[in-house]
Amino acid sequence: MTDIREIPGWTVETLHEDHAQALRETALLYDSETEHQRLRVFRNPTFGRILTLDGVVQVTEGDEFIYHEMMTHVPVLAHGAAKRILIIGGGDGGMAREALRHRSVEHVTMVEIDAGVVEFSKTYMPSISDGAFDDPRLDLQIADGAEFVRRDMPGYDVIIVDSTDPIGPGEVLFTDTFYGQAHRLLNEGGILVTQNGVPFLQGQELTNTLRAFKALFADWTCYMATIPTYAGGPMAFGWGCKGEARSTSPATIAARFKKADITTRYYTPDVHVAAFALPRYVLDLMP
Ligand code: SAM
Repeated sequence: MTDIREIPGWTVETLHEDHAQALRETALLYDSETEHQRLRVFRNPTFGRILTLDGVVQVTEGDEFIYHEMMTHVPVLAHGAAKRILIIGGGDGGMAREALRHRSVEHVTMVEIDAGVVEFSKTYMPSISDGAFDDPRLDLQIADGAEFVRRDMPGYDVIIVDSTDPIGPGEVLFTDTFYGQAHRLLNEGGILVTQNGVPFLQGQELTNTLRAFKALFADWTCYMATIPTYAGGPMAFGWGCKGEARSTSPATIAARFKKADITTRYYTPDVHVAAFALPRYVLDLMP
């Protein structure tokens, strides 16, 4: 039988046992082992440059805006006064870029385990960070996010976990211990958001995260967005809040977005509100 990963001219992601994603590869731009993982970049006519780590799509030039806008603007605008943000992972710089678009944000700490991803992204995919690495408000730390949250001091308004899937170095970012430490670092009213994969295919992952959130936060849920190259249906983002930011009225969200004066391609205040409407099969994954 043909090995699906061996189709000439295609890169095939086999993250899930019964489902694969094939992306046409018109040029291989980079292929190397970093200290932590195998990093590959190739070009696809529709998605532009695509970065994979250990064979799993992390970011594409074409659809990254959806993921990055939804993981930053939703918590930042729901919070309303976020000054200090912590990003765990996020090596390509897209999350820092969106967070720093908020002039009200005074400081972003980004903790990425793999310096190779940061260096690589700056050189080969500069449009993703779009200058964020040069912003004086950004403090980039090369460290394991799980270690960092264990030793850092509280004081964040928003924490964004922009991690790989729970395999390899990203696994520790899906543990109850990690979530407990992230909760400890949040200010009153603070919000933790996490990338939780595609629940149609990775339902257990979402249930595990939300079980931990339920034990930690008075307000916990997930919200969703569809990102074409995170295949298998809409992606879920875990949401845990030490306050009542989720009940901020749509009118207030719209007013804050207008005041922030940020140009987006996916995020709108209506999308923000709608993203918390969950289909039955996702509600059924709630602990
Ligand atoms: N959006 C992607 C996805 O959902 O597939 C993930 C984006 S990528 C920026 C995730 C980053 O998390 C990678 O650069 C990886 O090196 C980093 N990472 C993985 N484990 C980590 C850890 N324990 N601490 C800090 N960063 C980690």
